[in-house]
Amino acid sequence: MTTIAHWIDGTTHLGTGSRVGDVTNPATGLVTAQVAFAGPAEIEAAVGSAKKASIDWTRTSVSARAQVVFRFRELLNSRKEELAAIITAEHGKVLSDALGEVARGQEVVEFACGIPHLLKGGNSPQVSTGVDVHSLRQPLGVVGIISPFNFPAMVPMWFFPIAIAAGNAVVLKPSEKDPSAAIWMARLWQEAGLPDGVFTVLQGDKVAVDGLLDHPDVASISFVGSTPIAEYVYQRASRAGKRVQALGGAKNHMVVLPDADLDLAADAAVSAGYGSAGERCMAISVVVAVGDTGDALVQKIVERTATLKIGDGALDTDMGPLVTRAHRDKVASYVDAGAAEGATLVIDGREVDADGAADGFWLGPTLFDHVTPTMSVYTDEIFGPVLSVVRAGTYQEALDLVNANRYGNGTAIFTSNGGAARAFETDVQVGMIGVNVPIPVPMAYYSFGGWKSSLFGDTHAHGTEGVHFFTRGKVVTTRWPDPGTAGGLELAFPKNH
Ligand code: NAD
Repeated sequence: MTTIAHWIDGTTHLGTGSRVGDVTNPATGLVTAQVAFAGPAEIEAAVGSAKKASIDWTRTSVSARAQVVFRFRELLNSRKEELAAIITAEHGKVLSDALGEVARGQEVVEFACGIPHLLKGGNSPQVSTGVDVHSLRQPLGVVGIISPFNFPAMVPMWFFPIAIAAGNAVVLKPSEKDPSAAIWMARLWQEAGLPDGVFTVLQGDKVAVDGLLDHPDVASISFVGSTPIAEYVYQRASRAGKRVQALGGAKNHMVVLPDADLDLAADAAVSAGYGSAGERCMAISVVVAVGDTGDALVQKIVERTATLKIGDGALDTDMGPLVTRAHRDKVASYVDAGAAEGATLVIDGREVDADGAADGFWLGPTLFDHVTPTMSVYTDEIFGPVLSVVRAGTYQEALDLVNANRYGNGTAIFTSNGGAARAFETDVQVGMIGVNVPIPVPMAYYSFGGWKSSLFGDTHAHGTEGVHFFTRGKVVTTRWPDPGTAGGLELAFPKNH
C-alpha cells in the first residue's frame, strides 16, 4: 500500500508521525492508498521551508515570476489528461468532468500570467508643488490554502496561481479524501522552474488545518469547504491576526418563470443537478417552479434523467459515484427523510443499477416534487444528486424563498422576459447569478464568491479581488527638491499648495 506524502522543500516527505487516512476509489470501493497526516513537526517543516523560499521569490522580478507561471500553464495544458485521471480515480467524477475542472483552473493560471499588469500601481505627479505620489502592492509572505474534496485541482487553482505570481509562497492543505492531485501539481511547478519551497503541500486533517490557522508565519488563509468549518476557520484565523477568505456551503435555487423555455430549463436542471453527482458548490439543488410550470417541468426532467448513464467515471458514463461510502449513506438518509416528511419521490436514486463494481459508492439521480421549505431536503445542503422541486405561486414568492435561505452562493433564473431577469439580478441576495445559465461560475478575471453563510470574510476568489487578497498596498509620497530650495519648519498639518 503506497502512502501519499507531503511535498516540502521540493521533495516528498512521509513525516515522522504514524497517523494516516485511507484513500479510496469511489467506483470500486477499494482502498487504493493511504495519505500521511501532518503533525506539529511537518507543519513546522512546511511553513519554515515556505518562509525561507518566500524571501528570494518575493525579490524575483515580476517578469521572471510570470514566466514560471506561463511554463506551468504550458505543462498543465499538455498533460491535463494525467491530472484528470488522478481526479477521477480518487474523487469519482467522470473523466470529461475532471477535464472540465482542470480547464477552469487553467483559466486562473492564464489570468495570473498577466501579473505584471495586475500589479501595476497608480502614479499622480505634482499632487503638490514638486510632490509626487505612487502606490504599489507587495506580497504577504507565506499564504495558506485549505481545499475541499470536490475540486481537488480547480479550487486550489482559484488561489495559488495568483498567490505565487504575486510573489508569495504557498502552503496547500488539500482534502484528505483526494490528496494526489496536489502532489501532481507540486511536481509540475518544479518542472516549470518554481524554486523549491514556494509551493508546499501539507497533507492531513484538522491538526494540519489548525496548525496553519495558528502559525504566526502564515499571513493569510484561503479556505473552501462546508459552512460550519468555514465559519470556524474564519473566526480562529482572524483571531490569530490573519487575512481570511472562507468560502462555505450552498443551496442553489433555479427559478423557472412561466415564460421560460421549459426544454432549456429542464436540460439545465438535469445537467446542474446531477453533474458531478451533485457534489458541486454551484450545483442546482432546488428548482422553484413558478405558476403552472411544475408538472411539465417535472415530466421533462424525468425524461432527461432516464437517459443518463451512471457508472465508473473512467468509463463512458455521465455520472459517477459519491466520494466515500459515509457520504453516500448520508445522502441516502436524506432521501429516506424526504420521503418520510411527505415530499413526492419521483425518481429514487437508491435503486440505481450502476455500470461499475458492486462495492462502489453508488446513488443515482433522485428527484423530489412538492418539497416545502421546512423539509430537511430543503433546509440542508445535501451535496449529492438530489434535486428538489418547490412550487411557487408568483415571482415574488420565488424571490422571497431564495432570499430567506441561509446560503447565497449561486442562483439562476430561467425566463424570456428581460425585465424580470433584471429585477431578479437586482433584488436577489446571492453572489453569483445566471440568467438562462444554470451554473454561473464566473470567469477567472471576475471574482468567485457567495453571500451570507456561503462566504466569511469580504474578499472573493480570483479576479482582481484575488490579486488584492494576496498583496498589501503602500502609498509613497516623494519630493526631490533642488538643494536649498525646500525646508524650514512648518508644524501645521501639511496641506497641498
Ligand atoms: P469540509 O468542510 O469537510 O472540508 C474542507 C477542508 O476542511 C478539508 O481540507 C478538510 O480536511 C478540512 N476540515 C474538515 N473538518 C475539519 C475540522 N473539523 N477542522 C478543521 N478543518 C477541517 O468540506 P468537503 O466535504 O471537503 O467539501 C464539500 C463542501 O465544500 C460543501 O459544503 C461545498 O458546498 C463546499 N464548497 C464550497 C465552495 C464555494 O466556493 N463556496 C466550493 C467547493 C466546495
